[in-house]
Amino acid sequence: MIFTYSQFLLAIVILAFFWMILDWFFEVLRERGEARRVRKVSRECHLCGKIYREKKQVKLSRCPECEGENIRGGNRRLG
Ligand SMILES: [Zn+2]
Repeated sequence: MIFTYSQFLLAIVILAFFWMILDWFFEVLRERGEARRVRKVSRECHLCGKIYREKKQVKLSRCPECEGENIRGGNRRLG
């Protein structure tokens, strides 16, 4: 196969384009995983609205800001 200079340039542009798409794709995947992980371990206090980290598998956690008790999965019901 014989490549002309323009074909060579075109190949580089296409490769760069695919690389950009792949890079963006993995960045989106990484950010989504990170957001899910943070949401899993953090809790928003239903009294003062402070977002704090809680231990895993804790049914009842205490807010460090107002000492209010937050029940896991109870935020939606409380409003
Ligand atoms: Zn609080």
